[in-house]
Amino acid sequence: MEVCQTIAGIREYVRRARERGAVGLVPTMGYFHEGHLTLMREAAKVCPTVVVSIFVNPLQFGPTEDFRDYPRDSERDLALARETGVHAVFMPDTAEMYPLSPALYVEVERMDTVLCGRSRPGHFRGVATVVAKLFNIVRPDSAVFGQKDAQQLQIIRRMVRDLNFDLEVRAVPTVRDSDGLALSSRNIYLNAEQRVAATVLFRSLETARRAIQSGERSRPAIEKIMVETISAEPLAELDYASVYRLPDLEPVDSLDGELILAVAARFGKARLIDNITMRIPG
Ligand code: AMP
Repeated sequence: MEVCQTIAGIREYVRRARERGAVGLVPTMGYFHEGHLTLMREAAKVCPTVVVSIFVNPLQFGPTEDFRDYPRDSERDLALARETGVHAVFMPDTAEMYPLSPALYVEVERMDTVLCGRSRPGHFRGVATVVAKLFNIVRPDSAVFGQKDAQQLQIIRRMVRDLNFDLEVRAVPTVRDSDGLALSSRNIYLNAEQRVAATVLFRSLETARRAIQSGERSRPAIEKIMVETISAEPLAELDYASVYRLPDLEPVDSLDGELILAVAARFGKARLIDNITMRIPG
């Protein structure tokens, strides 16, 4: 497995690898768990060469967020990537990615102001900008993202469409622990009680799903079910519990078509998110 810390290095690697066929990219911030490894395996299904990027992108963190404390363990990450069959890891430092403070940003309008965009202003601009840079650096044929970060996934799909990136975006379903909690690098922040409490996120989504399956068609009623489920957990500090339309994250009046149910809450220092998607016949 090749490890490249420079843009020139990964470009040279990809130039040679392309002779073998398609190149798949899995962008990450590292501190791998089974969710990341599932993305790498998905890339390997469709591409003979898999490149993983590890970069904790300062541009997507707000001034009061956890950029400094974000968990990092590159030794362990490289070992896991190697075991998973990854061909190359691109792990630049901040100066390599941002030698100048950026004068150009990618902003996907409207979609970046709902859900997490409301409590994390500038977050999705940071994500879209760094992913556009990674696409230009690696020039992958496929790029793989997790459904866990559904808003990010939809924003990147829209960016690829609007800017004509010549690649296919593939999505992988959320990988969960046996009790339903979505795997996240930030779960490391949870103490034992918070770890139990955090299962309320998926429970709220499942309760809402069951209500819809039993015929509930009022959006406010579904949002109330999720809000009340999460608010009943004393260790959870609710951020949002909302229903939006896919793929463009438009507000929903009637519960039909392709929908996302999305929740976010804080458990101590950890801000966690989760979502499910549903297709409801009209
Ligand atoms: P991150 O390192 O948290 O920025 O995540 C890198 C990629 O892994 C993103 O595409 C995430 O959506 C994806 N990912 C993170 N957690 C999970 C999970 N539990 N299941 C599936 N994909 C995930």
